[in-house]
Amino acid sequence: MIKVDQSKCIGCGLCAILCPEYFQLNGDVFKAEVIKEGSSACVDEAIDNCPAQAISRD
Ligand code: SF4
Repeated sequence: MIKVDQSKCIGCGLCAILCPEYFQLNGDVFKAEVIKEGSSACVDEAIDNCPAQAISRD
């Protein structure tokens, strides 16, 4: 399961740019949310590049 830690996310939007199928930025609160489960190279890319280390997967 992919998770975005809402307390860590700074709303930069990078994950949604790198991997729009899986992440979207909730514009009301400026936090990212997961919109799809599964695995994809872009999910790894988002995890590796998130500046706040807010994305995890178990
Ligand atoms: S890349 Fe990280 S900090 Fe930026 S919106 Fe996504 S989860 Fe939040």
